[in-house]
Amino acid sequence: MAEGLADKMIRVDMTALTATTEPFPAAWRLLGGRALSARILRDECDPKCDPLGPGNVLVLAPGVLAGTSAPTSGRISVGGKSPLTGGIKEANAGGNPGQDLQKLGYRVIVVKGKPADPDKRYGLEVDATGVRVVPADDTKGLWNYALCERLYQRYPQSASFMSIGPAGEMQLSGASVACTDEKGRPARHAARGGLGAVMGSKGLKYVAIDAGKLAVRSPAVRKDFFAYAKEYTKAYQAGPQMFKWGTSSVVPVANMLNTFPYKNRTEGQSPDAATLDGKRIVESFETRGGGMHNCMTGCIVQCSNVVHDKDGNYKTSALEFETLTLLGANCGIASWEDVADLDRLCDELGLDTIETGAAIAIYMDSGGMEFGDAEGAKRILREIAEGTELGRAIGNGAVAIGKKRGHERVPVAKGQALPAWDPRPLKATGVTYCTSPMGADHTAGLIINPGMPPTEYARASQESQLANAACDSSGFCQFLQPNMEDIAKYYSLYTGENVTREQIAEMAWQCLADEWAFNDGAGFTAADDRLADCLVEEGVGPNHGMKFDVPADIIAAAKQRFEPREELYKLKATG
Ligand code: SF4
Repeated sequence: MAEGLADKMIRVDMTALTATTEPFPAAWRLLGGRALSARILRDECDPKCDPLGPGNVLVLAPGVLAGTSAPTSGRISVGGKSPLTGGIKEANAGGNPGQDLQKLGYRVIVVKGKPADPDKRYGLEVDATGVRVVPADDTKGLWNYALCERLYQRYPQSASFMSIGPAGEMQLSGASVACTDEKGRPARHAARGGLGAVMGSKGLKYVAIDAGKLAVRSPAVRKDFFAYAKEYTKAYQAGPQMFKWGTSSVVPVANMLNTFPYKNRTEGQSPDAATLDGKRIVESFETRGGGMHNCMTGCIVQCSNVVHDKDGNYKTSALEFETLTLLGANCGIASWEDVADLDRLCDELGLDTIETGAAIAIYMDSGGMEFGDAEGAKRILREIAEGTELGRAIGNGAVAIGKKRGHERVPVAKGQALPAWDPRPLKATGVTYCTSPMGADHTAGLIINPGMPPTEYARASQESQLANAACDSSGFCQFLQPNMEDIAKYYSLYTGENVTREQIAEMAWQCLADEWAFNDGAGFTAADDRLADCLVEEGVGPNHGMKFDVPADIIAAAKQRFEPREELYKLKATG
């Protein structure tokens, strides 16, 4: 591709316990992250496979630009068939593993098979000397932070890690894959869709990547690439910097728009918005320490808050809007400090905070516990590690706990819990939840425009899905908000090829097409492109009048390709 190391890929066979490298196919040279994962899964994974069986394929794919000096570009995608939705899944995370893999010249790790003994644990080592599967029984059952402490005793301080906690080892459908951040903390998670369970099913407790002192990857058109990155950074820093104080700063706006779900989404506003507002977290920096930081090297957005406790000790990072909503307001929990505790527990156990928050809220709504019982919620999370029946049901997500409790208000799409952004005031976002191959996932295509006319929903959703797919394939973080023109320019200067914005749009469409094809093969039909009944029948806002009432033909239109228009290429990725 560019100068420097030749591109390679790693293939891991967890049945034979071997890891090998091979050249990265030239045909995939412009594919990374989500698009690469989709292509590999389409070509190499039977969509009908058992998500927790040997036939599932776990893909760890850094974005195309990861490991370069392009700002905020080092994200890594985790892909596979989801045990939560039964369809294809991609979840991406910051931290440093994506950059470190690319610095070593590795474009992707493809993990297949399953060890004969499910009680064994293994690690995968990747460094300049090669790749190896190693025994790791001593890490069995470790929570993510203790695991990473142990791994830093074993590996150089320059290493980064991807890991699972007890939830992944128990193969729970809400399990995440953790990535270590710039400080070596397992605080960044590829959280959605239960991909931690897929990693757990393969007996893989961690991946250790050590790029040592290797430099960033060298672009083909060096001088122009560096000049463009500098100019881009300057322009970003001169702009509004929307996420300067983290995503949690959107709480008041979301509450105003009726998209700050309260008590299992029975209301769109929370009376506790003030005590869950990210402003409170920012105020705490003054007396307790903590602050804003970049979760991965080279991020200029720095949206990640580091939260300290009353004694000034590190508690968690990052406490995001989604977490404050799902584990806070949606559970009737009013204090951001309690949500910080819950967030840390989820990171420790390796759980998606959105799915877990939704599951706890359903448990509360069904009478299992009072809304607002923060200590009870913490107790349940600890039960997950103990493997109790209730803990497992919560760890398996919204649908699982709904079934166990015989409760009907289960706000999901394709089996995945809705994120904070609510499809009733934000109907075009609801169209994304219906049609995205990922199920209910705001990072698949978020449109915050409550006044949008219905005639625009389908195109707006499709364009947003394309912009985000392009971003999630590049390695850029959605909070940088790059558009297709930006991505095309970076790709051109990095590869030395003339990559056009039209090509980027085409690759994004192909990514969605690959994912929809996988889901078709898994048995999904148009009947699955819908939201749970409770979101159609029960409203939020004034007189509970905002319901998800988008007709089926508009939803279906979002999957029929619109002729690309100028606005598509300039649309910023938004998540
Ligand atoms: S913008 Fe935020 S989430 Fe994205 S890489 Fe930077 S710190 Fe991490």
